[in-house]
Amino acid sequence: MTKPGGVASTSAARCTVAPVVLVRVVEFRSIRRSATERLSMSDNTCDVTIIGAGPAGATAAILLAGSGRNVALVDRAKLPRPVPCGGWLTPHVAPLLANLGVDTKKLLARPFRHPTFHSADFSKRAEPQFDDAVGYLVDRPEFDHALVKAATKSGATLHEESLVVDIHLRESSVDVVLDGGRTITSRLLLLASGRDSELLDRTGFSTHPGETPIYVAQVEGAVPSAKATDESRVAVVLGLDGGPSFAFCSCSNGRVRVNVSWMRDRFEVVPLLERICRAAFENDLVPIDLTKQAGSASVIRSPASAALDMDTHVGKHTLLIGDAGGFVSAASNEGVYPAMWSAHLAVKVLESALDSKVSQDELMTFDTTWRMEMVDYLRSPHTDVRFLIPLVFTNQPMADRMGAAFFFGENI
Ligand SMILES: Cc1cc2nc3c(=O)[nH]c(=O)nc-3n(C[C@H](O)[C@H](O)[C@H](O)COP(=O)(O)OP(=O)(O)OC[C@H]3O[C@@H](n4cnc5c(N)ncnc54)[C@H](O)[C@@H]3O)c2cc1C
Repeated sequence: MTKPGGVASTSAARCTVAPVVLVRVVEFRSIRRSATERLSMSDNTCDVTIIGAGPAGATAAILLAGSGRNVALVDRAKLPRPVPCGGWLTPHVAPLLANLGVDTKKLLARPFRHPTFHSADFSKRAEPQFDDAVGYLVDRPEFDHALVKAATKSGATLHEESLVVDIHLRESSVDVVLDGGRTITSRLLLLASGRDSELLDRTGFSTHPGETPIYVAQVEGAVPSAKATDESRVAVVLGLDGGPSFAFCSCSNGRVRVNVSWMRDRFEVVPLLERICRAAFENDLVPIDLTKQAGSASVIRSPASAALDMDTHVGKHTLLIGDAGGFVSAASNEGVYPAMWSAHLAVKVLESALDSKVSQDELMTFDTTWRMEMVDYLRSPHTDVRFLIPLVFTNQPMADRMGAAFFFGENI
């Protein structure tokens, strides 16, 4: 199986086919338009409306607009917007970004090569070994905004500060109603509106929060210039609950970020984050103590692996991608690459649908397509990690395998 951008996956994919809903909508064929023709189209009519200008929506906008489709990219926020994020990206994003025509040299300027693993009591440490960069540390608002800029450069029309308040799925078109009453009409709709999106209900999707609740909380702060270094550092504290819960600490470009992913009770998350912030500072994993800020951190329920439990990601004229569709890794709470990957797969399906007289039949293929390609990346490791974590600190091959699972999405 090949991931977008040509990075080979080592794990075998399983195919689970979602229930097929027989909806046949006969439509006119879409025509690829030149840049001038696109400009002459009404601002309020397009081939595809994309709701959400995060990594999922912006990736789709770049690809669709780049192939001549008329695209409206809508976001309620003024961009660039703040995003709670550890800021690490798997190396799989590099070829994907290059494929989008984005300047990877600038965007991925901070690779990290020597992450460390730590036991929950901070008494043990391991260093997984890799031949190349393990991933990249990025400033998320900057990263997301670079994708949005690439989308507008490709020809997508950006509507920022435009809250979508309603969606009408008509016989052969979609009306997206913005706060203030303006409507954008398109043939197809891509919902990339992020986690907990209220728009799913409006478009008839049944959401599933994922089998195991994963709560995340994050805190970040600036490193005083006296302590600042150029080095990008990453440390992961494993087995916080004796099992898959973990903490992620990073330091790059003068910013420190500490977050926890916790698979037990929600009310335990903030005290845990405080404990981790203090211990991470005392054990020199991060150069500043963020314990005080951790006390007021928000607790977010991650949509990690929820995609696997949803009946379908296809609605009338509509596909669902990114966090809105639960495309987040259960093992690492990594969502940027899965968001971009789901966008990449959705665009192929949308292109066929736009060129087809039976677009709904084409859209239906998305459920099979993403399951064939992404399931193994999103699900928890097959193995019970409780038994493996102690070995990570005594056995180098096990540390390497844990590293490949966490940073590259491989199975253990
Ligand atoms: C604490 C935390 C740390 C994380 N750390 C990492 C990490 O280190 N690495 C990683 O890969 N992933 C991380 N993730 C996950 C990652 O941030 C998400 O998976 C990713 O942002 C998903 O991208 P998206 O495009 O699907 O959604 P989003 O980035 O959430 O974008 C959705 C967009 O839709 C817009 N929108 C929503 N509703 C409407 C509406 N009604 N009208 C108009 N616009 C609307 C929003 O304004 C938003 O801009 C983390 C998540 C959390 C919570």
